[in-house]
Amino acid sequence: MTRMLLVICDGLGDRPVPQLGGRTPLQAARTPTLDAMAAEGSCGQIDPIGPGIVAGSDTSHLALLGYDPYRYYSGRGPIEAMGVGLRLRGGDLALRFNFATVIPHGGELIVSDRRAGRIDSQTGPLAAALDGTVIDGVTFLVKEGTEHRGALVLRGEGLSTEISDVDPHREGGIARCRATAPQGERTAALLNAFTAQSHQVLSTHPVNLARVEAGKGAANCLLARGGGVLAPLPPLSERHHITVLGIAGVALIKGLCHWMGMEVAEVPGATGALHSDYVAKVEAALKSSHDLVVINFKAPDIAGHDGDAQAKVAAIERIDAAMGHVRSRFDGIVALTADHCTPVTTKEHSGDTVPLLMWGPGVRQDGVRCFDEIAVASGALGRLPGTALMPILLQLAGRSEKYGA
Ligand SMILES: [Zn+2]
Repeated sequence: MTRMLLVICDGLGDRPVPQLGGRTPLQAARTPTLDAMAAEGSCGQIDPIGPGIVAGSDTSHLALLGYDPYRYYSGRGPIEAMGVGLRLRGGDLALRFNFATVIPHGGELIVSDRRAGRIDSQTGPLAAALDGTVIDGVTFLVKEGTEHRGALVLRGEGLSTEISDVDPHREGGIARCRATAPQGERTAALLNAFTAQSHQVLSTHPVNLARVEAGKGAANCLLARGGGVLAPLPPLSERHHITVLGIAGVALIKGLCHWMGMEVAEVPGATGALHSDYVAKVEAALKSSHDLVVINFKAPDIAGHDGDAQAKVAAIERIDAAMGHVRSRFDGIVALTADHCTPVTTKEHSGDTVPLLMWGPGVRQDGVRCFDEIAVASGALGRLPGTALMPILLQLAGRSEKYGA
């Protein structure tokens, strides 16, 4: 059977960048492999969610893998929680959080740094100090993520998503959760009690005492946000009768892969950071025997959010180099696209189309000779919604059933 490789270059698409002479980073980058694959295959554009809709990474990955995000999406918290290794149960309320620096003032906690000086590599013991906290019969599971991030799960009776974020999303704001409907009042009170307790416990933690001693901000509070209860998702493997492997560095994408019922590879060097080992990820895909392998390359998105055009160009060129191994050694169908654009000029996701490349045995050769946002617009695949990608990929791999006689 023909194997399938879906490569999602996170935040790849872009807009004209003045310091690149009005070109996009993908236009400016040297991409001999992607250009060759474009010339050998078909190209097109994708609206991940719909035309002009600004997609999140999570909603877009759902769509690209064939799930209607409007039906299945249940907030980022649950996905992040799964990504850091917390296994959710029905009814669990999951949130993302930041370790932050707060200052008590007049009975409130005022946020002085939402990322606690971008604390890194010391957050494990801080999370462990809070993990297993029980308040009013509800257990709080706490697990650190990358840098200042982590995930929080509330397990107990009668929890509600009708709550605001604890995180005020700005420095100087107050760390407090409000109910957005009457049924959220108990959950909001529980979260406020936990936030206060996190401040008490973390303020005297040895990690923070040492940070203050060294002149750094204490990571003395958890700011939770994005609460959601996970909806069950029909596994990809059952939907399409295929085995699926996910290869990603970042917690969010790993969580998504678990949710979709993929096996998730642990690849040394695949960190989800700017300098993650792309060749190692591609090698893991080439070595595996799964029918479908899904790879997420995160770096273009990171560079886009940083507004760093040169870093984005460099990330794209490293993806191109890694794809060289695919082009010379993979004999299945490849789809390469992005989950959304992250223009370096806006440093945020945008609702522009993302480029799509399909390559492999049986894929029609169109007139596109170079892989970038503009060139692909004249490709044979036209302009597709994100949810159309999986049926096209499965069909090219000979894994679709006939509809009709
Ligand atoms: Zn993304």
